Amino acid sequence: MSAEQVKGLINSSAIAPVRVGILGFGGLGQAAAKVIAPKREMVWVAAADQKGYAYNAEGLDPDACIATYQSLGSLGYLEPSGILSNRSIQDLIGQASVDGYFLALPNLPNTFMASVVRQFIQSGWRGVLVDALKRTSAVEQMLALKDELQNAGITYMAGCGATPGLLTAAAAIAAQSYAEVHSVKITFGVGIANWEAYRATIREDIGHLPGYDVERARAMSDAEVEALLDETNGILTLENMEHADDVMLELAGICSRDRVTVGGVVDTRNPKKPLSTNVQVTGRTFEGKISTHTFTLGDETSMAANVCGPAFGYLKAGASLHRRGIYGLFTAAEVMPQFVQ
Ligand code: NAD
Repeated sequence: MSAEQVKGLINSSAIAPVRVGILGFGGLGQAAAKVIAPKREMVWVAAADQKGYAYNAEGLDPDACIATYQSLGSLGYLEPSGILSNRSIQDLIGQASVDGYFLALPNLPNTFMASVVRQFIQSGWRGVLVDALKRTSAVEQMLALKDELQNAGITYMAGCGATPGLLTAAAAIAAQSYAEVHSVKITFGVGIANWEAYRATIREDIGHLPGYDVERARAMSDAEVEALLDETNGILTLENMEHADDVMLELAGICSRDRVTVGGVVDTRNPKKPLSTNVQVTGRTFEGKISTHTFTLGDETSMAANVCGPAFGYLKAGASLHRRGIYGLFTAAEVMPQFVQ
């Protein structure tokens, strides 16, 4: 088949761009807006933060949205398409025509995202939802909603950030060389210039430190977070985290959850990664050899690139399932992300 014929096949399946919304417009939400801007297959039409939302069926301008959010604190101030609201998600769902949402919301408390998803189910909205949830217990709350999502005509893609997400999917692929998977070890390095750009991410990470939990981290004032980071020189070292990579790999039949470990180092004062993010998958081949596959992310790729890219890749995969009438819940370990052009 010639390159022209292949192009023809791709074009013949061309369909209208997927209309995308972003819920949460902090560090990840803003990065997501920039990631999606140059894409032809998706158009970014809606976004919400805690105090308002913006909707424009023709498409939103990321620079204008980010400038408004950063200077005035909410997309609700955007001219002319912003609306201030203290029930922004509910209002947006009711008003906007959106095919799929990326949920870049904080999961504080640990039940918040599930409550947002219930709002979608109750509203009668149909489409694709993608999350970048981290905790096992948070993804388990979504698993419990599987039948309701299916009945509502929603295709829900769970755990589709970096970890869980990109690295879990890499582990699922690496596992194929083995007859038995002995361990999956995820180690991440994150470097960000200042913690305020990713408040929820850092608070949720603090919730994994010894002596802390989600509620304690949520209740901390900004000054308390800063005081804690001062004590550690801005570094958070995280071990044996409750991360949903475990339940996702177990559900995909790859290994039991106790064989999956996740840990990492976050530097909140330096955009350079403190270590290279990687996943090591150890197993036994059918010949009886024990070996380890290692997949390492490039050090120049930021957390935002490794979360938002996969999230939209899974949104595209979810949209193609949805078009075929396939609803319910899928995880990043059971569906391939599709590259968004
Ligand atoms: P952030 O604190 O920078 O921003 C949160 C945004 O959500 C803000 O715009 C805020 O206004 C908005 N928001 C809060 N409550 C809201 C509400 N009730 N209604 C509407 N909007 C609301 O957050 P962040 O650091 O970008 O993190 C977002 C999430 O992404 C976190 O839960 C984090 O754990 C997750 N994350 C996942 C991965 C992964 O690899 N899976 C990596 C990084 C972050």
